[in-house]
Amino acid sequence: MDAKLRGVGVSHGVAIGQVRHMGTAVLEPPAKQIATQDAPREQQRARRAVEAVAADLNARGNLAGGEAQAVLEAQALMAQDPELLSDVDRRITVGSSAERAVYDAFASYRALLAGAGEYFAGRVADLDDVRNRIVARLLGVPMPGVPDSDEPFVLIARDLAPADTALLDTSLVLGFVTAEGGPTSHSAILARALGVPAVVALPGAADLAEETVVAVDGSTGEIIVNPDEAERTALTRAAEERRASLAAASGPGATSDGHKVPLLANIGGPDDVGAAVEAGAEGVGLFRTEFLFLDDSSRAPSAERQTEVYRKVLEAFPHGRVVVRVLDAGADKPLDFLTPADEPNPALGVRGLRTLLDHPEVLRTQLSALAEAAEGLPVYLEVMAPMVADRADARAFADACREVGLRAKFGAMVEIPSAALRARSVLQEVEFLSLGTNDLAQYTFAADRQVGALARLQDPWQPALLDLVALSTEAAVAEGKSCGVCGEAAADPLLACVLTGLGVTSLSMGAAAIPYVRATLAKHTLAQCERAAAAARAAESASEARAAAQAVLSGE
Ligand code: PEP
Ligand code: MG
Repeated sequence: MDAKLRGVGVSHGVAIGQVRHMGTAVLEPPAKQIATQDAPREQQRARRAVEAVAADLNARGNLAGGEAQAVLEAQALMAQDPELLSDVDRRITVGSSAERAVYDAFASYRALLAGAGEYFAGRVADLDDVRNRIVARLLGVPMPGVPDSDEPFVLIARDLAPADTALLDTSLVLGFVTAEGGPTSHSAILARALGVPAVVALPGAADLAEETVVAVDGSTGEIIVNPDEAERTALTRAAEERRASLAAASGPGATSDGHKVPLLANIGGPDDVGAAVEAGAEGVGLFRTEFLFLDDSSRAPSAERQTEVYRKVLEAFPHGRVVVRVLDAGADKPLDFLTPADEPNPALGVRGLRTLLDHPEVLRTQLSALAEAAEGLPVYLEVMAPMVADRADARAFADACREVGLRAKFGAMVEIPSAALRARSVLQEVEFLSLGTNDLAQYTFAADRQVGALARLQDPWQPALLDLVALSTEAAVAEGKSCGVCGEAAADPLLACVLTGLGVTSLSMGAAAIPYVRATLAKHTLAQCERAAAAARAAESASEARAAAQAVLSGE
């Protein structure tokens, strides 16, 4: 077959090589009935398989580190979901074998997830992978996975599971092509994190015969089957030109007329530092320290361990800025030793700074470890608290920092609308603000960020959210202080221009987004960004705001 196919390009670059398909999915286990007296034994088999798979996923996460670790740990939690497990038990009680009960329980959960909006639909592949692993273990067959090969290849799959992509040998995998998945699927996120060209949502992917040569263009989404020499050269040249134009916009973040907006990286720990440095991050704008605490949710890591990890990060940016967020536990990141187990509404419960003020010894240890880690380093250390609601919260945090003698700037994240509405008052206590637009959207629209069906309200282009950004930046200007953005909003190149126009003083994002934001910002003047921001705020919906900003910035 010589043809051109088109999917959705999600990770830039060109890969040319032979096709290898992902190990086949686990077969559907037969629907055989078991005798009633065998039920307890089957339930135990199911439980053991679940525990083993969860442990394996966690171990892979530990090996992989960084973003991949968080994804794999989330999968381990999926495997142990209490509702799923009681459904498995129930099915076994009424006569299913362990493998069939797992298969069927996951199928009904999958249907729920697939219909629960874009975000959850994107997690279906993760769920399928967990099911396949448990069923394979119960059936005693090999785990599905990446094919063995000594030669580099283009990996084809229905969808890629984090457990596989996390440990991929990137010297062998030239690129990914998947039949399913979207731009927010884990295949896409991890491909970008690994810097491997990738195309998703290509319906004909499964029909590509093993060992066929394909050229994959991760920017346009085009796949050329059996490309000739001229096609190979043209594709490679186009990819190099694109890379060169991104590289040409290297250096500090700034608008075309030289208004500086430092571009910083969001990291989860030392493992993410390499990618941040490579992308030209001018520092770290959000170090999510909770990843260090999630290793063992039954106790805090020791002060020594914390110092060691913080120092690694601080050393990577000897003269840059590093903004460390103190532990943000609770809600979607519960910790057994800190988070109340019985909250009716965890997102509105004791989380973030509230948790730390209830457990001052945990905050004190973390701040002391940071002070020790920064000792003798020329780094500009900034420390901020998540979930600051008002001036009293900001003061309590600043007092805690002062008590341990921390030499750093103290800041408050603006994630709760009250903090944006009274930003000037919060700024009486701290030196900077950092807008956590993910939570700010959640609390502004009363829309749980974990519920995919509410994705429309979570859109950071919502004019009401832009209004709160503007309130915060105006307060910062009035107080002569800074106000950055560290939520996902900063990673959208167009929105980054709008945020700049609204007056934010830095943008912090996943490292992979930095070159794109830098290049887009460099194409527009500050005045254009301000006009785009005004147009977006005048709109009535997120999509109108985006279109209005786009129209201004493209000079329409
Ligand atoms: C945010 O809420 O925007 C943020 C940056 O914090 P997190 O996503 O870790 O809650
Ligand atoms: Mg947050």
